[in-house]
Amino acid sequence: MRVAVFSTKPYDRRFLEEANQGRHALAFFEPHLAPETAPLAAGFAAVCAFVNDLLDGEVLRLLARGGTRLIALRCAGFNNVDLAAAAELGLRVARVPAYSPHAVAEHAVGLILALNRKIHRAYARVREGNFALEGLLGFDLDGKTAGVVGTGKIGAIVARILAGFGCRLLAFDPFPNPEVVARGARYVPLEELYAASDIITLHCPLTPGTHHLIDAGAVARMKPGVMLINTSRGGLVDTRAVIEGLKSGKIGFLGLDVYEEEADLFFEDLSGQVIQDDVFARLLTFPNVIITSHQAFFTEEALRNIASTTLANIADFEGGRPLAHEVRAQRGKR
Ligand code: NAD
Repeated sequence: MRVAVFSTKPYDRRFLEEANQGRHALAFFEPHLAPETAPLAAGFAAVCAFVNDLLDGEVLRLLARGGTRLIALRCAGFNNVDLAAAAELGLRVARVPAYSPHAVAEHAVGLILALNRKIHRAYARVREGNFALEGLLGFDLDGKTAGVVGTGKIGAIVARILAGFGCRLLAFDPFPNPEVVARGARYVPLEELYAASDIITLHCPLTPGTHHLIDAGAVARMKPGVMLINTSRGGLVDTRAVIEGLKSGKIGFLGLDVYEEEADLFFEDLSGQVIQDDVFARLLTFPNVIITSHQAFFTEEALRNIASTTLANIADFEGGRPLAHEVRAQRGKR
């Protein structure tokens, strides 16, 4: 099958080509998928897209007009796809539901450790010949309360790792996970999780219901000096509210792997350019903020699994077999 791969980076090409072994005709395009770039996919039955590709009604119409019949997402989240429009156009959508929950969970814990022990600052200091400890004071994770919001595949692993550090675990999820309860976590209402947690880590999907889950009201209900970690989706956090929380000291630490306006920034080398996003630029000024550019998934294991599942989805579609990882619009939702 002819597949147009958008937002291609050298590592995408490497892992997809390794897994493909010449089965499908893969064409690699560097630009994001957008109305301006969608015509590149004309004549390709399948389009392979990533987290910051835009798959709204307009783009999907252009793709359908060009003969595309399958959207093969090489990611788990599908918040960037207008599923109702896809259904109306007869476009099928498949994703990679799990490729390495460990990769993301371990990165979230990495942010917690780095922020707490100020490893980012210590690294810079020591390279400058500054061996002073003032300003680097951390705290023991043992005995601290960690609140895990969303205890699916990734949240459950985060809970397991933090239990290993001796953290007390609180959790919030509309569908409690027995594995997390077995780790000693207590499911509580969000309000209680906000009020009692020293560390809050987000692992729920971005949906209309979770957009700006962390807003000014949520920040106000948190413990002073709380550590907030978001490796899920940028839209879960109202960045302006969090900046106010950082300025007042209410938020003591912020670790982000995702950002609500990341599509214009992340995955690109912009080191020679002036950043135009003032909100993001403000975030970069805080000593107690660490931002990584959506790299939580970025391990060898994850990239191998992403490539093999994406190509299996394409092969199933081509062979007329059921699409095990199909995503569909919920009935009645536009
Ligand atoms: P999952 O589907 O296994 O788990 C998500 C959990 O969130 C489910 O248990 C669900 O019940 C719960 N949930 C739904 N609505 C909720 C709400 N309002 N409040 C609390 N919990 C809620 O998904 P996963 O594989 O664990 O992935 C979690 C998220 O991580 C994904 O949605 C994706 O956005 C993000 N992610 C980020 C990266 C990265 O590189 N940074 C990589 C993969 C996934």
